Parts: sequence; structure tokens; C-alpha cells
Amino acid sequence: MRNTIILVALLVCNSAQAKNVILFLGDGMGISTITAARIYAGQQQGLQGEEYELSFDKFEHVALVKTYNTDAQVSDSAGTISAILTGEKTRIGVLGVTAEVEQGNCTQALAHEIPTLLELAEEAGLVSGIVSTARITHATPAGAYAHVPSRDWESSSSISAQAKEQGCKDIAMQLVEFPHGDGPDVILGGGRAQFLPAAQADPEYKDKSGVRDDARNLIEEWLAARQSRTYLWNKDQFEKFEPQAGAQLMGLFEPSHMQFEADRAQDEAGEPSLAAMTKLALQQLNTADSGFFLLVEAGRIDHGHHFGNAYRALVDTVALADAVSVAKALVDLEETLIVVTADHSHTLTISGYPPRGNPILGKVESRDPDNTRPYTTLSYANGPGYQDTLPDLSDVDTQAPNYQQLATVPLQMETHAGEDVAAFATGKYAERIAGVMEQNKLFHVMQAVLFEANPTTESSSR
Ligand SMILES: [Zn+2]
Repeated sequence: MRNTIILVALLVCNSAQAKNVILFLGDGMGISTITAARIYAGQQQGLQGEEYELSFDKFEHVALVKTYNTDAQVSDSAGTISAILTGEKTRIGVLGVTAEVEQGNCTQALAHEIPTLLELAEEAGLVSGIVSTARITHATPAGAYAHVPSRDWESSSSISAQAKEQGCKDIAMQLVEFPHGDGPDVILGGGRAQFLPAAQADPEYKDKSGVRDDARNLIEEWLAARQSRTYLWNKDQFEKFEPQAGAQLMGLFEPSHMQFEADRAQDEAGEPSLAAMTKLALQQLNTADSGFFLLVEAGRIDHGHHFGNAYRALVDTVALADAVSVAKALVDLEETLIVVTADHSHTLTISGYPPRGNPILGKVESRDPDNTRPYTTLSYANGPGYQDTLPDLSDVDTQAPNYQQLATVPLQMETHAGEDVAAFATGKYAERIAGVMEQNKLFHVMQAVLFEANPTTESSSR
């Protein structure tokens, strides 16, 4: 009897599939952003909007996530992605190092690196991918592979001579010299200038060039380091790429960040959408027998907000929802955990008493005796949309793409906000995303899927 039970257990174990994690991160996608994007997406489809559901609105499990950094009440993308991908909170502005490390201190950083989920996955023989609409060396994607005391050290020209002497490497170099497993198998995003020498012209923009001051061409170095690697930089090449087992892909579609989704159609050489990049990444990762870890960042929601331009932030949020729905259709949720979250919020507010179905980028008619002028439903607590006196918006098209919403405090750049963000989850162990969670606890749920539930790997928990 006992032997039978063991035999059955073994059979069940052997027939189990490899386990996977997809982490979608909307940079700066606070809850007000999700609500506004949901209404916007619904209204684009001719609905009133409020009742509409984004793809991840339908996920069964939701948590609130506390986003503070160890030294900051309102956090940044570096400290937060470090918490999510290493399991430990750390300081604002640093990547993949513990909270002991002061910003910019190379020697401390070298002594206090902490492994990331992607590194652990690569060490365990899983496949992995990083997709972002921001520079692939920007804080969130860099959080998957880099260990630096300053998120600004993206290339050789932005890291200090002293730090280089002390043995610190810039972020682009850390991606290309990645020492775990065979390196990320899919790398898709922007930021190719960080990989190219200053003497080299950009292939898309003849007036632009690389930014490295060490004369190294890291794209060529990456290609030369292993067989079956493909590099591409425009939509045509992207669409021709055929996923196959063992292949590794790097696509860098802009010298800096990729275009906002709202502007993508005007890009000179063409760029894939976040959904298309997610689809190709999953098709490539699915060619492996092992499990995978994939990070997908909608990196420019944050930038739209910093510019005080809700329109671009909302369109990029809808693009993220589209990418989530593509991913969900391509994986088996018995074997895969999908998490959709944000690193931090922004100061966007949805206010007034606009009637049901009012355009979310539109105006509220005020009946307040102290102010009878209309104002925008969406506004920011601070940022470039500040005006000395409330302007008469009666004839202003607040739905125009470049409109900057009103802001209370004058700042050139709107800031992050410190309230909790949401985490939506579906699939394997999704029920563990629940309650009010410290941000670093997300790591432990994802880690459990990859290393405890996965039949192909030994547990590599630390
Ligand atoms: Zn930001």
C-alpha cells in the first residue's frame, strides 16, 4: 500500500510540467491610473467606460502592496524593483544591493550584492527574458540583472572614474557580461546607445550615436560571446525572427526609451508593441523544456505622468493590459503564475462629480460658489501643469494628446506618490497574493513557483 502511494506520487511528479512566472510591471501604475485607463479603454470602445474591465481586472487574486524604500516614504523604481526581485527592501536609487549600501558607494555595493530572481532562475537552468518599453538599462529592467549603488550608471560615460577603478561595472556591461547560466534568453526594449561607442552612428537616426566612452561595442560583444544569438533593432527584423530552441534574442528598438504607445505608429524604423514583444518572448521561452521567468515592463506610464500628460500614461497602461491578455492566452495557468503590479504610484487624482460616461480626459462643470470655472477630471498634486490662477478651460481641448493636466504645486517634473499599489494575480500560487503585502513579499511567491513547485529544479532558496 505504502509503495503504491509512493509510486503514484512519483508518477504525478514526473508528469508535472515546468513552472513559470510572468511579472508584468506598470511603472508608476497607481490605482488611480488603472481606474482612469479602464474608463479610457471602455470609452474608446464606445462604452460609458466605468463598467469596462482591463484584462487583469478579471484576475481572481488582488493585494495591496506597500512600496516604501528603507530610506524613503515615497519610493523610486530602483529600490522597488530590487525589493520585488531580490526579496529584500533597500534604499531609493540603488539596484540589487542591500540596504547597507549608500547611494553611489562602489566598494560597499560590491560587498553587498544580493541575487535577483532572474539570476536564480538562470543558475537553476531555467530560461528567462526581460521586456521593457524603457531603456533596457533603466531602473526596472536593470533590476533583473544589475547590482549598482546608483541607477544612473547606465553606461561607461555615466559611471565615475573612481567607481571604475574600484571595480564597479556600468549597467549595460553587467547585462552583456551576465555571469549566471547562459544569460537572459530574450532581451527586448530600448536603450541601444548605452551599448554602442560614441564614435558609432545610430542605425535609425543619423544625427545620433552611441554614448559609451570606452570604445566598446557591447552589442557585437554580446553576439560574439555565444552561438545562436540574434540582434535586431527594427520592426521588420523583429517580425522575421523565428523562435527556436536554444536561440537567444536581443532587440533594441531606440537609442533611448521606445516610443510612447500613442506615438509608436510615427516611429521612423517601426517598433513592435508591448503585446507583440511579450508574445515573441513567450514563444521563444516556450521552446525550452524548462520553466521560465519573464519580466515585462510598461516603462513609460511613469514618463507620461512625470510630464503631467495623462493621455500618454493611460494609452501605455492600456497597452500593458493588451500584453497581459496576449500572455494569458499563451500559457497554461495550471503551471504559470502571472502577476501584474506597479513599482510605485503617481499623484494622479480623479476628482469632481463628472457624470457617468463623461470623457475621462474631459472636464467637470463646477457648481461650487467659490469657483464656477470647469476643471479637468484628472489632475496632479504637482508637476508642469501648474497655473498661477485657474485658467478658463471652456474652449480648451483637454483631450488633445499633448494637454498637460492641472497641477497644484509647480514642479518641472510631476513626482511619484506614496500610497499602496495593487498586485493582481492568476495561476499557480496566485492565492498567495493577498491582503496588504510588503513589496518584497512578492519575490517569495514568485520564488516558490519557480523553485518549490518546479519539478525540474532543486530548491535554490536562500
Ligand atoms: Zn518615475
